Amino acid sequence: MSSGQERLSSILRRIDHRGYKAYQDIRGQFRFPGFDLYVDHVQADPFAPPSRFRVRVLQSMAGFPEWSLATPGRRVALADFLARRFSALAAALSHGHGQGAWESESHSHSHSPGGSATPGTGKSGRISMARPGQEILPRNSVLVDADFVEARFTVGLPAAGRSILGRVAEDIICGAVPRLVRDALLFASIPVADLERHIETAEDSDALRAALPGLEIVAFVANGAVLPRRSGVDDRPLDSGNVVPFTSPSSLEVEVTLPNRGPVRGMGVPRGVTLIVGGGYHGKSTLLRAIERGVYNHIPGDGRELVVTSPLAVKIRAEDGRAVTEDDISFFITNLPFGADTRHFSTENASGSTSQAANIVEAIEAGAKVLLVDEDTSATNFMIRDRRMQALVAKDREPITPFIDRVRSLAEDGISTVLVLGGSGDYLDVADTVIMMDEYRPVDVTARAREVAAHFATGRKFEGGEDEHLRPARRVPVSLGFARPGDRRPARTKARGTDAIVLGHEEIDLRNVEQVVDPGQTRFIADALRYLEAHLLDGRTTVPDLIAALEREIAAHGMDVVAPFVHGDYCLARPIEITAALNRLRTLKVSSKPRPDR
Ligand code: ADP
Ligand code: MG
Repeated sequence: MSSGQERLSSILRRIDHRGYKAYQDIRGQFRFPGFDLYVDHVQADPFAPPSRFRVRVLQSMAGFPEWSLATPGRRVALADFLARRFSALAAALSHGHGQGAWESESHSHSHSPGGSATPGTGKSGRISMARPGQEILPRNSVLVDADFVEARFTVGLPAAGRSILGRVAEDIICGAVPRLVRDALLFASIPVADLERHIETAEDSDALRAALPGLEIVAFVANGAVLPRRSGVDDRPLDSGNVVPFTSPSSLEVEVTLPNRGPVRGMGVPRGVTLIVGGGYHGKSTLLRAIERGVYNHIPGDGRELVVTSPLAVKIRAEDGRAVTEDDISFFITNLPFGADTRHFSTENASGSTSQAANIVEAIEAGAKVLLVDEDTSATNFMIRDRRMQALVAKDREPITPFIDRVRSLAEDGISTVLVLGGSGDYLDVADTVIMMDEYRPVDVTARAREVAAHFATGRKFEGGEDEHLRPARRVPVSLGFARPGDRRPARTKARGTDAIVLGHEEIDLRNVEQVVDPGQTRFIADALRYLEAHLLDGRTTVPDLIAALEREIAAHGMDVVAPFVHGDYCLARPIEITAALNRLRTLKVSSKPRPDR
């Protein structure tokens, strides 16, 4: 049988030692025993981004059982599991720990990321797929459905200088790739118990999140959960020193029965206004951060598998320096010096308080129902104005209505707040629930907080006014502005880790959008915004309606709908984070008089 594999082998032998351009001959589709190989893109030279490959295995061969494919949630977890396995096995091959046969002995101990463990120039010889972090996320590096399993990866096509190493390429593409397919993508070769645990863990997290509204809670933190992380740059669970597992105070404890694990108990964070108080270093921010991340599912062993949060929870912080385009921040800020109109507030350089106000109104415009706020990253003058300051600076000289005087109005409108606070006891007056972290153990101090509030009146005047409510904005994007009239090509997009995206001539800073957790999300957001500009923007549709239209396209066609070419670099981001990126685009233009469109 003359297979595609043989055809590919013979091309690679033919172009051995020829100039690098001859690699273009391997573009196309090749039938291998048991799978199809697609060479979607061939790099132009050894230093260019590596070539893009795909393999597709029919389920008749891959053999994933019905149970692993039965629901969308299970398919996401299965694909995530396979992506972890494929990327780890590929990385091990390139580092000389696997069965890779093409590396020279003398190089096999190198771990340098530049690829010196592999032969030749640039990244040649390396097979790679983005390595997932602690979250189980929809990704496009591995796609699974009832018919097939597809894996997308890159290969640095090997060269010596600019001359093709055809035999080495043959070893990689016709030797290592089929072994990877066998070891990573066939049900018969994967550890079934690990796969089951992965799928069941994700399914339980989904079920727990779905149970939150019925329990009237906005987050759940299971007893036994491990919240602290190794470091600010290492998201794995803290495993040294004395780690205190989470235990709920009995008054806040709820029980939920999960489909796989059965009954679990833990702390329910009620709707309304919840304070997390306690001494410095007692674990307040760690608890809040776990709640922030609870919008995502976590891998088995993470410690936060059963820490889940409403999908409409948004971390809010001060972000001075950000750009703001036509936000109505008048609920929080009015009468700025020189009469700036805070119902249509734009700035290139927001202050701490105006940025925090903008972040809140934008989050609510995007559909947020839970605000997560940490005093560590808030603007003090946005949070509180105490009695003495009220006496010294008259209300009509102070543009800011502090959050303390708005948080109850928001709660009445169904927007809950979870607030970490160590400094200002004035907030005890507005809290429904007060949780004290005491040496990493939560204690329900709500009753005691009421007594304290009654005993030590603050004397401050409420500045919120009678029955004032935040009206949702109706901003209509007219142009995103990242392309310029003279541009010949469509705008390029790029992501810098989770910190920034580049969109044509513009860069969007996402360092303070803290619920972006995977570089695949920033890549996805960048292309999603470009797609939105090209296909959905019509100058009549409001921000949330535009993002909803985008979501419908993604639901119908997958994340690939925004991709300019086939690749496996995306992870799904929430509409809230896509909106957050849109709002930080410095060239965004919105119409200031939105027409009602419904
Ligand atoms: P706070 O916000 O109250 O000042 P943090 O949440 O920043 O405190 O926590 C202080 C330190 O304690 C951090 O280094 C964190 O990793 C660690 N920590 C937090 N929770 C736990 C825990 N449950 N067990 C062990 N260490 C913890
Ligand atoms: Mg803190």
